[in-house]
Amino acid sequence: MTQKLKVAIIQSSPVYMNLEASLDKAVGLIERAAAEDARLVTFGDQWYDLPGNNNERERQERLYVRDVHRIFAENKSKPKSKTPPTLRTATPQERASYHQIVQAWGHNPFGDATDEDSALGEPQNPYPGFSKGKLEDINKALADGAKLLQKSDCQKELAKAGINVTDLIKRFSNLSARPDSASNIKGYNVFYAEKSTDPQVQQFLKTERGKGAGAFIYGQDVMVRDAFFNARGGAAIGGEISRALALIHEAIHLTGKSDADFGGSSKLNDVVIHACWSKLYGHKNLAIVGN
Ligand SMILES: [Zn+2]
Repeated sequence: MTQKLKVAIIQSSPVYMNLEASLDKAVGLIERAAAEDARLVTFGDQWYDLPGNNNERERQERLYVRDVHRIFAENKSKPKSKTPPTLRTATPQERASYHQIVQAWGHNPFGDATDEDSALGEPQNPYPGFSKGKLEDINKALADGAKLLQKSDCQKELAKAGINVTDLIKRFSNLSARPDSASNIKGYNVFYAEKSTDPQVQQFLKTERGKGAGAFIYGQDVMVRDAFFNARGGAAIGGEISRALALIHEAIHLTGKSDADFGGSSKLNDVVIHACWSKLYGHKNLAIVGN
C-alpha cells in the first residue's frame, strides 16, 4: 500500500543577514505549509547562509577581521622613519571612515579579541573606555564641572577671557566617557589615552607636553591619562575639583580656543581657576592636569 506525502518547497528568501527575522519567517512558512497538509517542508540553500551559522559568509567575515589585524600589525612593525611623526588631528574623512567601519560591524572589530584573533597579537583599540572606578571619577568631575559652569561669576569671568560660554556649556554637557563595557564608541567622546593603540596618541604621550598632560584633545575627542585620576588638587582642595576644572579646560579647547590663545596651557588653567574656583585663586598647590 502506498501513502501520499505532501511536500512543501519554500521558494521565498530569508531576511538578509537577520537571523531572528528569518527564523520568524521560516516558522510562519512552516505553519502555512502544515495548514495545507504538507508533511515535509524544504528550504533553499539561502537559508543556510544566515549569521550565526558556521557558513560561508561567517567564514569570510572572520577572514576579513584576520586581514584587518594583519594589516595593522604589519603597519605597526614598519621601521620608523628618521623624523618621528607628530601628533596630527584625524581628518573628518578618516574619522568618518572609522565610524563607518564600526557602524557596519555593529561593534568595534579592533577592540574585541576572539580566540582566533589572540594569535595575532594585541587587539587594536584607538578609542578605549574606562573601568568602573575611573568612569565614576570622570562622571563625578563632569557633574561638578557642570555645576561650576552654572555659576554666574564663573560664566562672567570666562566670557571676559574671550570664551564663548554658551558654546562651552554645550560642549561640556556633551562630554561622555566610554565605559570599557560599551561595545562601540558611538555617542562617546572621552577615551582612555593610556590604553589607546592609535600611533599618534602613543607618540604624543611620549613628548614633553604629553608626559605632563592629564588630558588632551584629539580631534573632537578628549583623551584622558592616568595622571588625571592621580591628580591631587593641593592642600585645600580634593583631586575631584582639579579633575572638574581640567575637563572645563579641555571643553574650552573644543570651542576652538587653543592654549596659545591664553599664553599657554598653565595660563588657561589660571583663567579657569580664577573664574570658576576664585576662592582658591593663587593657591600654589592647585594642580590642574589639563593640557
Ligand atoms: Zn590646554
